[in-house]
Amino acid sequence: MTRKALAVFAFIIAVVGFSGSVWWVGFSAALKPIAEQGRADLSLASGRLTSGLQQFRQAAVLLADHPELIRRIQDPELAEQANAVLLEASDKLGTLEIQLADASGKILASSNPRGSANISLTPYFSRAMQGAVGSYHAQVDASGQRVFYFSAPLLDGGPPFGAVIVKVDMEAVEESDWRGGAQAIYFVDASGVVFVSNRSELLLRTRGTTASSTSYFTDQLKPFFSYQDYNIAGHDLWAVDAGRYIPIRALHMTQPLPVVGMEGEVLISTAPAERIATLQALVAAALCLSFGAIWYVATERRRALSERLEIEARSNAALEARVAARTQELSNANLSLRKEISEKEEAEAALKKAQVDLVQAGKLSALGEMSAGISHELNQPLMAIQNFSDNAGLLLERGKTEVAANNVSRISDLARRMGRIIKNLRAFARQESEPMTNVDLSAVVEAALEVASSRLRQEGVLVNWIRPKNKITVRGGEVRLQQVVLNLVTNATDAMGESDVKNIDISMELIDNKVVLSVCDTGPGLDDPEKIFDPFYTTKAVGRAEGMGLGLSISYGLVQSFGGQIRGRNHADGGAVFTVELTTPAKENM
Ligand code: ADP
Repeated sequence: MTRKALAVFAFIIAVVGFSGSVWWVGFSAALKPIAEQGRADLSLASGRLTSGLQQFRQAAVLLADHPELIRRIQDPELAEQANAVLLEASDKLGTLEIQLADASGKILASSNPRGSANISLTPYFSRAMQGAVGSYHAQVDASGQRVFYFSAPLLDGGPPFGAVIVKVDMEAVEESDWRGGAQAIYFVDASGVVFVSNRSELLLRTRGTTASSTSYFTDQLKPFFSYQDYNIAGHDLWAVDAGRYIPIRALHMTQPLPVVGMEGEVLISTAPAERIATLQALVAAALCLSFGAIWYVATERRRALSERLEIEARSNAALEARVAARTQELSNANLSLRKEISEKEEAEAALKKAQVDLVQAGKLSALGEMSAGISHELNQPLMAIQNFSDNAGLLLERGKTEVAANNVSRISDLARRMGRIIKNLRAFARQESEPMTNVDLSAVVEAALEVASSRLRQEGVLVNWIRPKNKITVRGGEVRLQQVVLNLVTNATDAMGESDVKNIDISMELIDNKVVLSVCDTGPGLDDPEKIFDPFYTTKAVGRAEGMGLGLSISYGLVQSFGGQIRGRNHADGGAVFTVELTTPAKENM
């Protein structure tokens, strides 16, 4: 900011300097024609003045040779004639007065006789008496009139014996059209007083404070005018304070007029030159400033553009960096997500396998538990088959074919029963991942009861199975549902080991589109209903095959996989109640 301000300041200084130079050059150049004009005007005015005065000088010289006047010097009687000659001459010439004086300065004759007077002490008479022909002198007379005195000596070979004096009013010499001309022109006499001028305000004033001794009376002079001179390009310039019709700043020029003993001076206003120079300087400054402004604006624009580009580049870079970082983060997250997913998939696969293994283990454990009963179940019909077949043999030998046929039919029945038992066992033990289907829940309950039948009989448990009149279908896997029911029945049987009354009530009801299967027993009830579905929670003796604490947790998982719920609670009248809630297939009921 400071640098910019400094640059602007320096530029303005340079413009001012340059404009100043332009002004100077322009002013100097413009002074030239002004000076020429002034010189011409001054020389014209000087010529007019000189020629105007010259005629009176010559008149004085001519009159000095006039015989009437010379005779008057010698003869006092001739005064009248002399006066007449002088009056006539004065009238013709238009002078103030013409006088004739003798060597002592006494006025002998005059165009305007006023008694005796002596002019022996006047400078113009002294000069004439010294033999100077046609000398003149300027003076202000008692009335304040500016008067030129021309004197010529009367000579006859020896020293002057008298003089002719011609008095001329300056007003008569100054031409009326010369007054108030374009330039202020004035003529200064030897004592430094402005005696002739086309500007009345300059008359009878001295320039500056220096008023050399004059023959004027001080009260006849007007106050001096002050000026200050200086030089520009060889021209003498004045700063003048001499009234409103005199230029304040002017070009000053002089021209000596030795013939009339004066010096002509002219004061020409430099205002036109100043105006021209100022105009040129202003144009130069305006051009410089315009160029400067254009340059400044262009520079600013370029700077702003480059700044904007820089900012954009920076923000782009930042954005790119952020995008890169974010991409990196995302790809990292993606990687870890993939890893997590694959871990999860692995864990799921392991879980699935563990579940499958557990289901299988549960099934095998149930089978193991029931193995004694099963072998008894199969052994009994087998023994019966053996007996019937032995008897059938004997009966055939005895020719009792009818009774033998009856035995064979019994054998066939028993074999069918065994086949059914084996079929159920095989289906139960098979490790399969059956799909979800529509399952007849009553058939499932009955199949489970059949598998458990020998154990139930052995334990003396009474099963009260209230089979619904209509078929109830649920969504699920047949074998896995069978496993759930079998587990509930087995648990109830286990729990009622010490009970006096060993009853299991199994029922089901349809509520909306849900089927609730209930298994109640008359056992001691649940010790801790909150924990029964936890894996490895068991109250059974450790070491026994059934005491793994996995049955209910497996059942829980299976029912959940069918979209159902399994719950366990204690009955108000004692014993445990397990309910399995399953969904019915769409638009299917009892
Ligand atoms: P396990 O039969 O191997 O102990 P379960 O998961 O089948 O494993 O059963 C967990 C526990 O739940 C049993 O140990 C028992 O304490 C309790 N339980 C289950 N069913 C009943 C029931 N009908 N009456 C009383 N307690 C039961």
